[in-house]
Amino acid sequence: MEKASVDLSETDEFLPENNEDSSNPKRLKTQLGTPATRAGIIEKLISTKFIERNKKQLLPTEKGINLIAVVPTDIKSPRLTAEWEACLTEIEHGEKNFDEFLDEIKHMTKELVFNNKSPVDEFKSLFPQQTSGNKGNKKEVIGICPRCGSDVLEWDKVFSCVKKECEFALFKQSRYFVDKRVKLTKTIAKSLLKDGKVFIKELYSSQKNKTYSATVVLKDDGGKYVSFGLEF
Ligand SMILES: [Zn+2]
Repeated sequence: MEKASVDLSETDEFLPENNEDSSNPKRLKTQLGTPATRAGIIEKLISTKFIERNKKQLLPTEKGINLIAVVPTDIKSPRLTAEWEACLTEIEHGEKNFDEFLDEIKHMTKELVFNNKSPVDEFKSLFPQQTSGNKGNKKEVIGICPRCGSDVLEWDKVFSCVKKECEFALFKQSRYFVDKRVKLTKTIAKSLLKDGKVFIKELYSSQKNKTYSATVVLKDDGGKYVSFGLEF
């Protein structure tokens, strides 16, 4: 695939070719963020592997090229950013209402997400992981987060909510389970998420130095760590 590089350094002034509002001088000259924002965006694109550095060049990766292919025209055009920048300037000068602007963006985001949930058939081959069930990088959903209703996925050391700010997590090395010499397996995590409890045959008691059966109940009070209780 042919690689194209985009030079973002010389776009202090972005002049849309087909700007319908070109009669309006305020709209004519719009900016594309500050150099500082640009640096942040570039670093983010590198860390997410959409572009890579090649000496002084920034080149799109295959993942980046595929993304550009499927992203709706509106959001891949610098025109949108330029228009937003213009709106921000208007807000700064008291010529535009901030809440109105935010509502417009919210509305647009919702619409974009709704209309672009998965790549159209034409582009599905570009994203094999997303379109071939549980193969590839797609993770199995272990259950639904009791705090926020998002998916809970399995990681090396934890079953945790996909929503970063939610912080719900079942640590595999949870003290409670380690003390009882029970491995917090995927099956156990699934039951805890589905039913809020799980029956376990061999829980170890260090006091009595023997094992017993009981139901472990998930008690989540929203803190950093969840706690558990026993039912007999
Ligand atoms: Zn959650």
